[in-house]
Amino acid sequence: MFAELDDKTKALKETLTEFMGAYVYPNEAELLDESRQEGRWAHSALQRDLQAKAREQGLWNLFYNHGPEGQGLSNYQYTHLCETLGRSLAGPEIFNCNAPDVGNMEILSVYGTDAQKERWLKPLLNAEIRSCFAMTEPQVASSDATNIETRIERDGDEYVVTGRKWWTTGAMADACKVAIVMGKSDPDAPKHKQQSMILVPMDSPGVTVTRPLAVYGFQHPPLGHAEVVFDKVRVPTDAMLLGEGRGFEIAQGRLGPGRIHHCMRFIGLAERAMEAMCARAGARTAFGNRLSEMGGVRQVIGQCRTELEAARLMTLKAAWSMDRLGNKAARHDIAMAKIFVPTVTGQIIDRAIQVHGGSGLSEDFFLAMAFAETRFLRIGDGPDEVHREALARTELARGGATDNAA
Ligand SMILES: Cc1cc2nc3c(=O)[nH]c(=O)nc-3n(C[C@H](O)[C@H](O)[C@H](O)COP(=O)(O)OP(=O)(O)OC[C@H]3O[C@@H](n4cnc5c(N)ncnc54)[C@H](O)[C@@H]3O)c2cc1C
Repeated sequence: MFAELDDKTKALKETLTEFMGAYVYPNEAELLDESRQEGRWAHSALQRDLQAKAREQGLWNLFYNHGPEGQGLSNYQYTHLCETLGRSLAGPEIFNCNAPDVGNMEILSVYGTDAQKERWLKPLLNAEIRSCFAMTEPQVASSDATNIETRIERDGDEYVVTGRKWWTTGAMADACKVAIVMGKSDPDAPKHKQQSMILVPMDSPGVTVTRPLAVYGFQHPPLGHAEVVFDKVRVPTDAMLLGEGRGFEIAQGRLGPGRIHHCMRFIGLAERAMEAMCARAGARTAFGNRLSEMGGVRQVIGQCRTELEAARLMTLKAAWSMDRLGNKAARHDIAMAKIFVPTVTGQIIDRAIQVHGGSGLSEDFFLAMAFAETRFLRIGDGPDEVHREALARTELARGGATDNAA
C-alpha cells in the first residue's frame, strides 16, 4: 500500500529538516515564550522573519494543492512533511500550514467565487491576513452541528448574522480579518439543509470579540481562541459561500483534511517527545541507576514506540485513502486516525512528562504545551465519541464486515 517517497517530496523533506534545524529549533524557546504571553495578539517580528525565510526556500503553503501558490502535493506526500514541521509547536505558522487558516483556505479554494478568492484567499495564501472559523456555540451542544442557533437571515440584498460563538480559533489575532460563520438560514428546511456558511469581515459593525479562552491556561497567542458575538451583522449577499443551505456540505469538505493534518503534526510532536524522554532517561540517575536502565522506564519506551508506529501507519493509510478514494469514501479511515492518534500521542507525551519529573510540567520544556495540544483534539473537530458513533453505525449496517479489501 505505501509507496516509496518520490524525489520531490524527499528533496522537500530534506530542505524542511535543514530549515527546522537552522531556524526553528534555535528560536523555539523564544517562539514558545511568545505563545505563552497572555494578551499578545500581534505576530512577532521573529515569526514574520521566519515566514519570509521559509517562503524564500520554497517551504510555503506545503498543504495547498489547488494552484501554483502551493506545491501540488498529495495528502500522502504532505503527511511526510507535516510530520516534520509538526515536530515544533511553532512550526505550522512559519510555513503557513496552520489551523484554522489551512481549512479556511481549503474552503475558499473549493467553494469560493472568484471575487471571494481575490478578497480573502489571496492574502491568506500570502499570510498577509489571518482568518477564523466560527461554528461552535456556548449555549448548545455543538458536536451536533444541527443544534447551532446563530441566524443568517436574508434582508433585501444583505444577510443579517446574529449569534454567539466560542472557541473560535484565530479570532483574537490582530491580523484576523475574516470569519467563516456557520448559522441557520432556514430553520424549516430538512435537518441538514438549514445551515449556511457566510464570510463576515471582522471589522463589520456588530462583530465583538468578547474574550480569549485558554486551554489549561494557554491562550495560544497570537491566534488565540475567542468568544465572538455577532449582533445583527450585515453583509452583502455575495458573502454567502456556495449557496443557502449548503453549510453541512462545506463543513464535511473542510474537516476531513483538517483532521488528518492535526494527526500528522502530532506524530512529529510525539517523536520529539520520545527523543526528549530517551535523552532525559539517559542523563538522570536515581537510586543508583540511570533512569534508562530501569525496567519500568524501558517498558514505557518500548510501548511508546509501538503505539507511535501504529499511529503513523494509521495516519498514512488515511492520507493514502483520501488520495485514492476521495475524502468522503476515506471518512472511516480519517475518523479512526482522528480517534486514535490524538489519544496515543497524548499518552506518549504524558509518559515523557512523567520521565522528566517536575521539569516535564514546567515551561522549560515543550511537553506541557504539547500535551494540551493533543488533548484538545480529542474534543476539537468533533469529540471522539461522535466519530466512534459514526464508525459503529457503518459497522452495524454492514454486519461488521470489513471494506478494507483495498
Ligand atoms: C482548543 C480548541 C479549539 C477549537 N477551535 C474551534 C474553532 O476554530 N471553531 C469552532 O467552531 N470550534 C472550535 N472548537 C470547538 C470544538 O469543535 C467543540 O468544542 C466540539 O465540537 C464539541 O462541542 P461542544 O464543546 O459543544 O461539546 P458538546 O457537544 O456539549 O459535547 C460534550 C461531550 O458530550 C459527549 N458526546 C457528544 N456527542 C456524543 C455521542 N454521540 N455519543 C457519546 N458522547 C457524546 C462527548 O464526550 C463530548 O465531548 C475548538 C475547541 C477547542 C477546545
